[in-house]
Amino acid sequence: MADIETLKQENRIFNPPTDFVKNATISGMETYQAMCAAAENDYEGFWAKLANENIEWRKPFTRTLNETDAPFYKWFEDGQLNVSYNCLDRNLQNGNADKTAVIFEADDGQVTRVAYKELHDKVCQFANGLKSLGIKKGDRVVIYMPMSIEGIVAMQACARIGATHSVVFGGFSAKSLQERIIDAGAVAVITADEQVRGGKQLPLKSIVDEAIGMGGCEHLKNVVIYQRTGTNINFVQDRDRWLKDVVANQDSTCEPEWVDAEHPLFILYTSGSTGKPKGVQHASGGYLLWAMLTMKWTFDIKPTDIFWCTADIGWVTGHTYIAYGPLAVGATQIVFEGVPTYPNAGRFWDMIAKHKATIFYTAPTAIRSLIKAADADAEVHPKKYDLSSLRLLGSVGEPINPEAWMWYYRNVGNEHCPIVDTFWQTETGGHMITPLPGATPMVPGSCTMPLPGIMAAVVDETGNDLPNGQGGILVVKRPWPSMIRTIWGDPERFKKSYFPEELGGKIYLAGDGAVRNDKTGYFTITGRIDDVLNVSGHRMGTMEIESALVANPLVAEAAVVGKPDETTGESICAFVVLKRARPSGEEARQIAKELRDWVAKEIGPIAKPKEIRFGDNLPKTRSGKIMRRLLRVLAKGEQITQDISTLENPAILEQLKEAQ
Ligand code: ATP
Ligand code: MG
Repeated sequence: MADIETLKQENRIFNPPTDFVKNATISGMETYQAMCAAAENDYEGFWAKLANENIEWRKPFTRTLNETDAPFYKWFEDGQLNVSYNCLDRNLQNGNADKTAVIFEADDGQVTRVAYKELHDKVCQFANGLKSLGIKKGDRVVIYMPMSIEGIVAMQACARIGATHSVVFGGFSAKSLQERIIDAGAVAVITADEQVRGGKQLPLKSIVDEAIGMGGCEHLKNVVIYQRTGTNINFVQDRDRWLKDVVANQDSTCEPEWVDAEHPLFILYTSGSTGKPKGVQHASGGYLLWAMLTMKWTFDIKPTDIFWCTADIGWVTGHTYIAYGPLAVGATQIVFEGVPTYPNAGRFWDMIAKHKATIFYTAPTAIRSLIKAADADAEVHPKKYDLSSLRLLGSVGEPINPEAWMWYYRNVGNEHCPIVDTFWQTETGGHMITPLPGATPMVPGSCTMPLPGIMAAVVDETGNDLPNGQGGILVVKRPWPSMIRTIWGDPERFKKSYFPEELGGKIYLAGDGAVRNDKTGYFTITGRIDDVLNVSGHRMGTMEIESALVANPLVAEAAVVGKPDETTGESICAFVVLKRARPSGEEARQIAKELRDWVAKEIGPIAKPKEIRFGDNLPKTRSGKIMRRLLRVLAKGEQITQDISTLENPAILEQLKEAQ
């Protein structure tokens, strides 16, 4: 794997604006470098100091890191805290009681504001309600909720009583929900009657019934239902309860359950891009610390900011940068119930203008679809809206293609907002590699440098460091506080997946390929390790070829995979979504030829796709990520037998089966 070639170098570089640098929490590269040096010199001291400064401990810790049972690392293990206390009560004590915590915008545009005091009271009532049902510390609670204030309150309420939550995205099927309820051994499910997205009412409670009806959920005693739409639902006596009854007459204070730093705060299943989802278990203390620090460092959060992360609470981004991080630092945030394309594809821009958002954090898949929409209809182009409140933009979830980055920078950020391209994973708990907005010169498509304290490196298959310019596998050499603690119920899979013996069993394997720039040392993610292509002995990441295709004015989105080839070992098969309608026949052949020549010119003849297939879309996870593993099967012309439980749009597979 040591020889992925970097065929093309990105030369554009954008410095953070001077006034941003002046006021930034981490201001200038020297400050960043000094922090990295501090971590290098005294790793435990670095983290201990931050943990003492940022978290309010009930009982201070005396031991920072315990490595005796590696890779089952423990952080701050004899310390005690409560995460909900740190997110809420602390804000009541430091003058934020009346500050708006959440600006909630419903699908239909209705806005509800909740101040910190009110949020605290709601969480306490919910927590007391859960206790009245007999739910206690250590129990697992599945949350299957729409984007809502109640969803966040449910998560915080679990944290308050020491119950471990497992949020399941509201778009998942009964089968996926059942598997997660069983795997987590949940005693309760918190859900809603329905959810509302894109003007449609979609069921939740009936899916919970179906999931439980599939069997195996005998440990489940309670289903708590939030009434979102008030539709009629099937109500099971002795098991189902309305949320309004559960919280009625409950006290608006609730003594937090003080837990050890290592107490599991939540279990969250990964997106399933590369295989069957894994139940990632996170601890309380280390996770909270990193949620707070990355809010401060990466997002440069200030008391006056209006922060907006568009993720769903069903994903880790919605955990760290909606349910916990913004509250723990006392920020005001926007929470959105709906979808970016309803009532039209200008919804995000409209909401930024309306609420005067200052920080906007979204995913490349959303950006690509909004580029396509703005191209087709000038009325929903971001330039039509007043986005002048924005000061910082962010991206997460997939590598962002340089051309999508440029569009975001120019049209949304008006060339004065830094973009933080944040590389991280469900397993990492928070950002790992990202520009710092007041320090790092940005390069489109590169997540640049690891945060202070994150010992990321690019190594070969046996764990040896590779020189800059040589592609390899991304690892993290030292444990960090917000790292995954184990895969719930499967410690062996945890070791095998993330700390393989081939790398010595102690360094974290991210599962992504990366390369560092010769001159700057910047990291670029080249794609998943499993997706590396080998064409005539040249090893290539998927990302570069996809980005070359996306740079063509006709192309909205692209995914490339390898296909066995007798002469070249592997040949490149590209799946392409055009900005215009899906072509067929002669037109398709014409455009395919044009795109092949384009890639040859942009990167080199070696990267030229042998085959190009057009679709209206690509197979994606429900979190919007391209599932290349399925495309690999289609390219080979084989039947799909893999886990597709997290596939959003199964119908698209049929369309992409045939080469034109
Ligand atoms: P599974 O682990 O089940 O296959 P997944 O890896 O898609 O699913 P997540 O934890 O949601 O689940 O996603 C993390 C992955 O997303 C990273 O490993 C990386 O491939 C990709 N990713 C996230 N942010 C970025 C980014 N800024 N640049 C490049 N890749 C990113
Ligand atoms: Mg993953």
